[in-house]
Amino acid sequence: MERILVSACLMGRKVRYDGAAKASGDALLAAWRQEGRLIPFCPEVEGGLPVPRPAAEIEGGAGGAAVLAGAARVLTTGGADVTEAFLSGARSALAVARSFDVKMAILKEGSPSCGSLTVYDGTFSGHRMPGIGVTTALLELHGITVFDEEHITDAGVRLRELGGDR
Ligand code: SF4
Repeated sequence: MERILVSACLMGRKVRYDGAAKASGDALLAAWRQEGRLIPFCPEVEGGLPVPRPAAEIEGGAGGAAVLAGAARVLTTGGADVTEAFLSGARSALAVARSFDVKMAILKEGSPSCGSLTVYDGTFSGHRMPGIGVTTALLELHGITVFDEEHITDAGVRLRELGGDR
């Protein structure tokens, strides 16, 4: 069975910075969960950060690839540098994905770890810009396709292409 890595918060786990979840009500995701296809994972918690934790953004809205390259940091609202925790979480996500031969992931949009289309611009003013999170950047670098929670239908198409059964 093709397994899919999923942001733990989308599966209802209270792992977000504010101690909440962002459970998805998507029917396809629910069906995959029932099948045992999903692997819930929170890169920030696995990287050693607590729940709750200060909000963090990539400086300059540079995106995850810049963080991987050492060209940008991840900073909290208080200015603490949490780059290493984000990198550690991304590496753990990749390790888990590889251990299950994962080829696709569904990750929460807008997150500095999990975003796949947008990230916040680093000013903590609620503004997003095009970009991807640190975990997404590392997964994509290793050939894993990342979808956000608004494109689960597209993920279903990809799963069929991969020879999945739905
Ligand atoms: S790091 Fe990803 S999985 Fe964890 S709370 Fe943020 S969006 Fe959800």
